[in-house]
Amino acid sequence: MLLLLPYRVDALEDRRPWANHLLLACLVAVHAVLLARGQGLPEALVLRGWSPAGLLGSMFLHADWWHLIGNLVFLWVFGNAVASRLGNLVFLALFLGAGVAASAFHVLLSDAPAVGASGAINGVVGAYLVLFPRTRVSMLWVVLYRGGTIRVQSAWLLGSWFCLDLLGALLGAPGIAYLSHVGGFASGFLLAALLARAGRVRFEAFERPLFRGPGEPAPAGPPEARPGRAALPSPPRPAPSPPPAPSPPPAPPAGPPGEGVSITCGCGRELHLSSRFRGGRTVCPACFRELEVPRAPERARDQG
Ligand SMILES: [Zn+2]
Repeated sequence: MLLLLPYRVDALEDRRPWANHLLLACLVAVHAVLLARGQGLPEALVLRGWSPAGLLGSMFLHADWWHLIGNLVFLWVFGNAVASRLGNLVFLALFLGAGVAASAFHVLLSDAPAVGASGAINGVVGAYLVLFPRTRVSMLWVVLYRGGTIRVQSAWLLGSWFCLDLLGALLGAPGIAYLSHVGGFASGFLLAALLARAGRVRFEAFERPLFRGPGEPAPAGPPEARPGRAALPSPPRPAPSPPPAPSPPPAPPAGPPGEGVSITCGCGRELHLSSRFRGGRTVCPACFRELEVPRAPERARDQG
């Protein structure tokens, strides 16, 4: 028995990812209804050729419970972080867009019928790689009768994941729709990269996304910037305007709105976060220890 299952990521979440919860519920509901009807998968929704119903509908069908549960785990782990950062409606569009692109890629290069959300979920994973390449993914591993947990940097994990899918697609391994995985991953990666480049995604100063918007400050502070990765010399900008805030986050329960929160890790690294992350968890970018983000500003607590 060999198993490698992600169960948690370290990405900062700043809003409730309800769109992902909705998708998870939809996938379970569709499978349960079809099972209750007992007539197998509806032929019209199976991906077979260029039928629009199949291109869109096949991502909500699953061959059996194991197929479904595997997909639910990956969507839960990576989808919550991506939905939280992109916004719920954008996330829904990314999921459906990547799913259709995955289906189209499959139809283009293969005649085999296919079902499953894994193409769309690979799109979510591709977006995760763009947004959070330096975070850690916690995974459960089981080999024969031994098991444990391991944390791996997401750039390495998801990069090798994509390479394995690419290899599977090139070798034409049967049983798994590798082509749709590759198409989904690539389209999710591309969509997230475009959104990030357009400045539609907000990042904290210490985060290291693969792409940033033109108006966003490059990660400042040399503490953990490596020589090879130091900020590129950029032409001087006359007056850096503040990045456009899509919609002001709800004011935190305590403290003036807009005021950030500072925490100091045990390793000495100081982190400055926007107040929208209050009450959440984060991970020290220097030593990868888990840190709680205090709910109220420290000063207010001292006075009380
Ligand atoms: Zn630290």
